[in-house]
Amino acid sequence: MNSMYTIPTHLNDTPAQHRAAIIQSIRSAKAQGRRPVLLCASYAQQLSWQRTLAREGCGFGVAVTTLPAWVEELWMLHGDGSAIVGPLTRTFAMRQAAHEHVWSKNPTEGTLKLLERCAAEAMPYATTEGCVLSAEELHVAQTVIAYRALLRERNLIEASEACALLAQRDALGAYQPIVVDVAEEDLTHAQCQLLEAAGAAAQFHTAAQPGNEDRADELRSLLAMLYCRQKDDAAIAAQGHVRMAFPMGPTAELPLIGITIEQFAQQGTVIVACKSPAQAFDALAPALVESGISCSFADRMPFGATPMGRHLLNLAGLVNASDTDLLLAADYALNIFAGVNIVSAFRSDQSRRNNRLIQPTEVLSNLANNASESLQGVIGLLEEGRIDDAFDVLAAYAAPISAYGVGPATNSPAVLAKAREACREASSWGLSWQEAIRSLEGASIPTSRSTSEDTEATVRFISLEDCAQLPAASADTVIICNLCANVYPIKEPEDALSTLLRTWGCVRPATPLATMRRTYALACSVARETLVLERALHDGQTEELQPASVFEELVDCYRASLASDVDTNKKLRIPQSLVPFAAVRGEEALVANATNGALATEREADAPVIGEIDASARSFITLGQNRGQETSDLLALSPSQIESYLECPYQWFAKRRLKLDTLEESFSKVERGNFIHSTLEHFYARFQQTIAPKVTEETLEDARNLMQVVFEETAQHQFEKSPGKGRYVPITESERRARDAILPMLQDYLEYETMLLPSFTPQYYEWRYGDAEPFTYAGCTICGSVDRIDVDEQGRAFVIDYKSSLSKAYRLHEKPAKDEPAPTTFVLPHKMQALMYAKVVRDLLGLQVVGTLYLNPLTCEIQGAYDSRIIGLEELPFKKGADATCAQVPWCDVCTFDELINRSEQLVAQRIEELAQGVIHAQPICKDACKYCPVGNCTERLEKRSI
Ligand code: SF4
Repeated sequence: MNSMYTIPTHLNDTPAQHRAAIIQSIRSAKAQGRRPVLLCASYAQQLSWQRTLAREGCGFGVAVTTLPAWVEELWMLHGDGSAIVGPLTRTFAMRQAAHEHVWSKNPTEGTLKLLERCAAEAMPYATTEGCVLSAEELHVAQTVIAYRALLRERNLIEASEACALLAQRDALGAYQPIVVDVAEEDLTHAQCQLLEAAGAAAQFHTAAQPGNEDRADELRSLLAMLYCRQKDDAAIAAQGHVRMAFPMGPTAELPLIGITIEQFAQQGTVIVACKSPAQAFDALAPALVESGISCSFADRMPFGATPMGRHLLNLAGLVNASDTDLLLAADYALNIFAGVNIVSAFRSDQSRRNNRLIQPTEVLSNLANNASESLQGVIGLLEEGRIDDAFDVLAAYAAPISAYGVGPATNSPAVLAKAREACREASSWGLSWQEAIRSLEGASIPTSRSTSEDTEATVRFISLEDCAQLPAASADTVIICNLCANVYPIKEPEDALSTLLRTWGCVRPATPLATMRRTYALACSVARETLVLERALHDGQTEELQPASVFEELVDCYRASLASDVDTNKKLRIPQSLVPFAAVRGEEALVANATNGALATEREADAPVIGEIDASARSFITLGQNRGQETSDLLALSPSQIESYLECPYQWFAKRRLKLDTLEESFSKVERGNFIHSTLEHFYARFQQTIAPKVTEETLEDARNLMQVVFEETAQHQFEKSPGKGRYVPITESERRARDAILPMLQDYLEYETMLLPSFTPQYYEWRYGDAEPFTYAGCTICGSVDRIDVDEQGRAFVIDYKSSLSKAYRLHEKPAKDEPAPTTFVLPHKMQALMYAKVVRDLLGLQVVGTLYLNPLTCEIQGAYDSRIIGLEELPFKKGADATCAQVPWCDVCTFDELINRSEQLVAQRIEELAQGVIHAQPICKDACKYCPVGNCTERLEKRSI
């Protein structure tokens, strides 16, 4: 079914003709004995027409209203006693219907919104019969029909259904609707049906509203010609009442708008119609106020973008939640209405993220405890379902912030009122308050601010649509901004809803171009003296921007000829006659543009020193020099820190001093390594107490059984450890599987253990050193623990360091390439923690260290160094011959293991001296060093980051 109702789209009626035609329609309706009903596009226009008709002396007996209000009134008089449903009721009744319907896939927020639009527009036409519907469309149709039944149970009705029923009532004949300035595309199918049935008589649509007489001649001519210039019509003569502003790119846009405002605010009121009024106000108002120009803005923002809306959404996501959402908790704590001090917000976020076992209830109590005293009860009240009480507490807390605050926080009373109403309505439909709040996320909240308390501001920032609603010729200057095709695109609506509505024969004339033309023309008609059109010529990537189609159409009125562009300025793409009235601003003045021209003073600062710790900060290179009872002036490090510094000084700085690693308690290789260390330590301690000093073929079965017991105990013990202690705690099924997969690998490793160092026996596990008394190594003090020390009967020792992954980097030296001679001077190996431990073991335990091994129990591999003059390969089951060759001492000019330990220390000492001097260059020892480095933007990086 197509609409029979047609509204002319020409905009060339003069106000006098417009007024006369309407008055004529009123008179003829009265003459026919029908009551004239003037249907206006908005409440503002309704007031304007009421005044006009009163002035003309023909307001008596005429109803001046809007179409929705008239439908409601008609339904009250001629309906079936049911009430027309409001938007909030629709939202929750529809959700209830959607919950009750069985969907193949749970409806998303988007689907729920589509259902609401469908009901609002097409309730009387929704059917599952006589049309072919897809599976999804069938769900939509069935839900809309179920929704209608729910409404009827409560004696409610959709306005669209009321329109369709009223269209069949004889009582309609008593009225003569006269539609004023309402475009056809703004009417739903049901409204068209009603107007058609009522024989809606006069349809007027013009940009020239009452008040046009006061306008500058150039503007009057322009509005009369806009969109309807004929080939033979003469071009409008540019006189400066229409001006152009062309920023070359986005950084010049706001400054140019600001300059234009300043220029015209001296002459009277200025309306700035732009895409983001709040943003433009925030950027320009301070400088304008300094120049003595008062400003205000009115805009709408989504509920979820307001601080109070965000806060309520966060509460809805956290209270009674089954999962822990730490990001939501962080967002919550940083919201102005959470009442959490900023330092506490960051500290508590850190402690929560460092605990992967944290439960939703702990998160909530943590947040509640950190809140200001006056907000302490809110979370508890919400948990108990005392929503109104919780909102009362929030409102009391928010009142002073709203009253004296700045920015969007000032609209919190409106946000809270909307949320409260939604929660009540949702509750009446049996839905939770959380669902009510979530449904509001995209709801539009009016927001406004003004720099002048009492009087109307000189400059008002509003949207183009709001500008179009203002009375004609009501501002001295109108500046319409952002007139680019990408900001105001003209797109045909082709979505799932329009397809479904077409299937039901419910057609809404879709003419987005006509809507845009009308809005733009109405906005232009608000100007009394000057109209300024602004559009950026390039985007942020210096690509040329296309003008909005309506901008081009207005400019067409000034072209000497519509058939030729001979008089067109190529750069600005406007007729030469408009060029004298065009302002252009480039992007070269970066600072002035960025500060909107204010305070553009030049400043110089020293470039930061990179790769070096400043002399004044060198006492902080390492902290905690006090170890045990003694204080030392030496740097306090650990073997792993030294190794990190040797791999790349800047990586050490980033990881150890800036601590760039993640805040979250992780389930990574590091925690897995700690867990394996702990399991092996406990295994050997228990094994030696209860079975034998060493795993052999005879004790292998017992060892495997014991490993299972120890593994399970150690895994359980992880959950008793505090967060931040490197615990290995799986929380998902896949993590649990990853942990459990370690046990068979450790059990298999025991067989390898029977071949490893058969003449040696494990004697020390996780042996600690340097705590009570500083141990000096290479000019610094170190402390830590050695994973394992195996000793033979002659007091010779192997230092063992467990690793859960090994590579060639753990070899003492690398095989020289084929054509290269063997090196003659010893250089430090890439990995050398175990050589540091060797010195500790030698000096503190008095043992003769003959080897240092890195052992991977998961793959049964070893790398490292050993004294090949003392130890035979029967002790060392290397996987490859090259691993054994590259572990041998003597090597180069190092003849004994003692010499190896001493030479390594000397070389490390040279590097520690550099660290003490503050040297922290990015200088990787090899590309492996960069692999897990957290410095994302390092120019020296050799390997892609694989964190
Ligand atoms: S990316 Fe490589 S070079 Fe850069 S700091 Fe990290 S380890 Fe050093």
